[in-house]
Amino acid sequence: MPSERQIDVGGVRIGGGAPVAVQTMTKTETADLPATMAQIHRVAEAGADIVRVAVPRQKDAEALATIVAQSPIPVIADIHFNHTLALKALDAGAHCVRLNPGNIGGPDKVAEVTARATELGTPLRVGVNSGSLPAHLRQLEYSDPVEALVTAAVETVELMERLDFENFKVSMKSTSVPNTIAANRRLAQRIPYPLHLGVTEAGTKWSGSLKSAVGLGTLLADGIGDTIRISLSTFHAEEEVKVAWEILRALKLREHGPVLIACPTCGRLQFDMDTVVAEVERRLRDYADPIEVSVLGCAVNGIGEARHADFGITGAKDMGMIYSRGEPLRKVPTERLVDELFAEIDRYYAAGKVVRRDETQAAEARAWLADNEDVTALTPERLAALEAAAADAPGDELASPVAGRRFVRS
Ligand code: SF4
Repeated sequence: MPSERQIDVGGVRIGGGAPVAVQTMTKTETADLPATMAQIHRVAEAGADIVRVAVPRQKDAEALATIVAQSPIPVIADIHFNHTLALKALDAGAHCVRLNPGNIGGPDKVAEVTARATELGTPLRVGVNSGSLPAHLRQLEYSDPVEALVTAAVETVELMERLDFENFKVSMKSTSVPNTIAANRRLAQRIPYPLHLGVTEAGTKWSGSLKSAVGLGTLLADGIGDTIRISLSTFHAEEEVKVAWEILRALKLREHGPVLIACPTCGRLQFDMDTVVAEVERRLRDYADPIEVSVLGCAVNGIGEARHADFGITGAKDMGMIYSRGEPLRKVPTERLVDELFAEIDRYYAAGKVVRRDETQAAEARAWLADNEDVTALTPERLAALEAAAADAPGDELASPVAGRRFVRS
């Protein structure tokens, strides 16, 4: 269930059923304006809705006004511990300020910040980190780390409410994926405010993406979470944005640019699919529409698995085929498959999103497909389809069409 409350970060709505917002954080020294602005433009181009910048020094706060004025997307100032910097960030026009009230120097200092934020109508992000829980929760942290996190977050929320400030979202960060899931599930039951999700210090591009996909994906699939940030150990913040979008697109929560579907390949592959998929992925970056494009390594399984794709290709040794929404368009030599695929896609857009089919070429392609398709082959896709059908059907394991073909590795 989405949060009850909604906030507005520089025109991007967060919570209350708004689309899950993608955010990231610049990795540059904030005061280095050319580097920071270049990175902000890169993440905006990759699809970030909001960007956060670190403001640990006076000179970073001074750079903020320029950054806010020049940024194509709303800017959150991350000040963490220093309430003077929070006040400066608010005055510089930051669209939101992130702070952890538990370690900013007491409720009086938090009150100064909330008073200024109220005057300016600026929202705050408040939160807790598993690594810096208040001293009175240390014992609980040993026995129940999830409850310790949730208690710290609820205490923060109560402090904000005592200060008569409700224009905020909440984050609760842990390096543990199970704790992130359990804590956010619990917190979502207890507070009405928007939740910022992230797995803190998730790791490298590879492991961090997987941890984030599991942790954030599980919560988002439950309907929990209003904005997400993927934390990866890379200088290229746009990579975080791409991973965030993959998670949202996989869950069909938001659309953003083309979707590429590619088979996993197997021993039936007869052409250099790695290169073809990489090239298709690279060229699809030039398209903003959420078009679905599929690449199948062979036609042994027909094109049924990619029936829903707007366009696709399937190849064999010398020849391949282009298809659209499950219907062949034409066959082309394998080395021209990618060029011709994109020629078809461009024709589709030029015709106002209409597929132009030449019936003679389509008939040739159908004949080629019939020659290459092996309807008896138990391909990975067919096995998966058979297993799915068997799982849906009543009866026991012995009724499975693939029973007896299973084996167990010992
Ligand atoms: S059988 Fe399936 S997985 Fe194997 S190459 Fe063909 S389409 Fe790809």
